[in-house]
Amino acid sequence: MLSLGVDLGGTTARVAVVERSTGRIVASEKQTWTDRSVEAVVSGTAALLNRLAAAHPEATGSVGVGFAGMLRGPVVANAPNLGWREVDFGTPLSAAVGRPVRLVNDLSAAAWGEYAAGAAKGTSDALTVFVGTGVGSAIIAGGSLLSGVSQVSGEFGHVKLMVDGGRLCGCGQQGCLEAYMGGMKLGEWMKEEGLSGTAADLEPLAAAGDATARRLYDFAVGHLALAIANQVTVLNPGVLVLGGGVLSRCPGMVQRIRETVARRSTVASAAAVKIVMASLGDDSGLVGAALLS
Ligand SMILES: [Zn+2]
Repeated sequence: MLSLGVDLGGTTARVAVVERSTGRIVASEKQTWTDRSVEAVVSGTAALLNRLAAAHPEATGSVGVGFAGMLRGPVVANAPNLGWREVDFGTPLSAAVGRPVRLVNDLSAAAWGEYAAGAAKGTSDALTVFVGTGVGSAIIAGGSLLSGVSQVSGEFGHVKLMVDGGRLCGCGQQGCLEAYMGGMKLGEWMKEEGLSGTAADLEPLAAAGDATARRLYDFAVGHLALAIANQVTVLNPGVLVLGGGVLSRCPGMVQRIRETVARRSTVASAAAVKIVMASLGDDSGLVGAALLS
């Protein structure tokens, strides 16, 4: 059985036909655009989908679309990458492809891809944490993706690190984990403190003995690791999947997370969790979106 999935970014759509039983990508296409209007993105995505669907008539049923943003049913409540707010994307796309469309958060899609066909395969409970531009997570509990009543559970980047105040986060609140961690905000913080380079450069700078780099690194990575250890305590996952552009390039961060989970999560949860790196790379969201359709 085959399914159709879409991974929609700010400037690119990837569309694939995926084998449901294995998560294997049978065929895929990619398109880049500059016009970010809803009409242009709907028609561009629909054209890719219709072409792939015509070539693979066995791919019946609905389409899963992984989307970087906050969603409410077919409506994109907020997608900073595309500059969309309160946009009904699902309904016109569904009309254009003649089949139901399910929008899912991109991190949820990536987590589901890893759960169904990647690094977390075989468990019933998985926690996924990605540190790239920001900090995101998704929770699979008892074999189901946790969505919450407003479809925003797993917003791990916005757990608070202090009771009051703290650095301003992109969400408008203060003191969020993501205000200190992730390519965008950690990069800004480094610049303010006179450090050059990107978030992934902080680890080698700290290791080389730069005192400012050490202070920022210990704060940012220490709090990330502690927040993850607390999530492991609460959720008791079988697998913790780590990924994203920053974590995949910073082995010291991964090591700190391992040590902190071992030392600070409850004994039973620490003993049960297997900590692994995401294994599907850029395909996790595409595969997950198709399998969630
Ligand atoms: Zn925030």
